[in-house]
Amino acid sequence: MVPYKTYLSESEMPTQWYNMRADMKNKPAPLLNPGTLQPMTAQELSGVFCEELVKQELDNDTPYIDIPKEICDFYRMYRPSPLVRAYCLEKALGTPARIYYKFEGNNTSGSHKLNSAIAQAYYAKKQGLKGVTTETGAGQWGTALSMACAYLGLDCKVYMVKVSYEQKPFRREVMRTYGASVTPSPSETTNVGRKILAEHPGTTGSLGCAISEAVEAATSTEGYRYVLGSVLNQVVLHQSIIGLESKLAFDKIGEKPDIIIGCAGGGSNLGGLIAPFMGQKLRGEADYKIIAVEPASCPSFTRGKFAYDFCDTGMVCPLAKMYTLGSGFIPSANHAGGLRYHGMSSILSQLYHDGLMEATSVEQTSVFEAATQFARVEGILPAPESSHAIKVAIDEALKCKETGEEKTIFFGLTGTGYFDMVAYQKFNDGEMSDYIPTDDDLAVGLSKLPKVE
Ligand SMILES: *Cc1c(COP(=O)(O)O)cnc(C)c1O
Repeated sequence: MVPYKTYLSESEMPTQWYNMRADMKNKPAPLLNPGTLQPMTAQELSGVFCEELVKQELDNDTPYIDIPKEICDFYRMYRPSPLVRAYCLEKALGTPARIYYKFEGNNTSGSHKLNSAIAQAYYAKKQGLKGVTTETGAGQWGTALSMACAYLGLDCKVYMVKVSYEQKPFRREVMRTYGASVTPSPSETTNVGRKILAEHPGTTGSLGCAISEAVEAATSTEGYRYVLGSVLNQVVLHQSIIGLESKLAFDKIGEKPDIIIGCAGGGSNLGGLIAPFMGQKLRGEADYKIIAVEPASCPSFTRGKFAYDFCDTGMVCPLAKMYTLGSGFIPSANHAGGLRYHGMSSILSQLYHDGLMEATSVEQTSVFEAATQFARVEGILPAPESSHAIKVAIDEALKCKETGEEKTIFFGLTGTGYFDMVAYQKFNDGEMSDYIPTDDDLAVGLSKLPKVE
């Protein structure tokens, strides 16, 4: 019998990240300079990002990249993460399907984001920098980065979306405990923040706006660079540790997933989860059905456009070609499930555009129903983001129940939801509603895409 949990031993852990781009026929489109509309050069990017990370960002050719020993050592503090056979969920559903999940919530940040935070902080430290700046929405990324910076002795300045800063005081205090300074965004501390506040007084902020402030803070402070927790190629590269460990664990128990499911915000956990499997698919060695799951209230893949767009509200960042809802898009106020970024990783966007993966969207009440069902049988209290994947994994398992097919379903359980109890409270009190933007709502954001090509 397959064990409930499959771990790798320390010596079996991957020592290299896998770069899917090396096996992609159609490479993801390059970042463009917003002024000249020419591809960003390494030199231009190195004003914003650390040098080694710029190299990784631009490297479309090297399939395997060594994980520095210091990062491997840090990974060992909370990795390998278990590949779990969801026997209890299978039983509750009465499905013949075999369900597995990879659980990334076993660290204080509560999510997979630490995998890239430590890598980005390490390269910043190695370059001799004083500190890094970043944005955080729900707070998982800011927490992960604060942990990594504390470990390495780097300063960490976090711009936290104002509504989260106010609604998630405990998240904020975790970051401060790890030594980060946390500023609600938009703030009066940057030019772009002051401009946004003047134009939209009383705004509760957005991720796109916090990114603009963090980039300005980095580029205007000596010895600082900016780091980002998702979307970028380098982040997808670091997150490949999730998929590589999963693949090794599946090989160990002699299993192969038929369907791989992950939630998609900016695409980093999904990109990491699928990496080695997609590699096989790209090389024609194996086939998998891969499904990205996004909120119906922020449907970048399923209703967005594949186009160059700004990554931030202040339009200070490079342009990325991706599935986007427009950089001004903000999900409706009742949206509680995370995954609220307007765009998507360029790598995943290209793979989706080329038909190598599918995408679907789900409404938040159904996501919290799935989360609750999962928590009650599997024990883990899942993050709302992760629960998007749970919802679709359950749907696929129920399809197997109808057809009698014994498929192997694998999903990414990206984190825990302890800091999301206000959202759970709304659901438990029956006060959660669904809102699906109309075509007219989406047209507003899409009409403001920059004109490129
Ligand atoms: C940030 C986050 C996500 C979404 O980000 P991706 O870059 O799309 O992976 C999903 N789950 C959790 C728990 C997160 O913290």
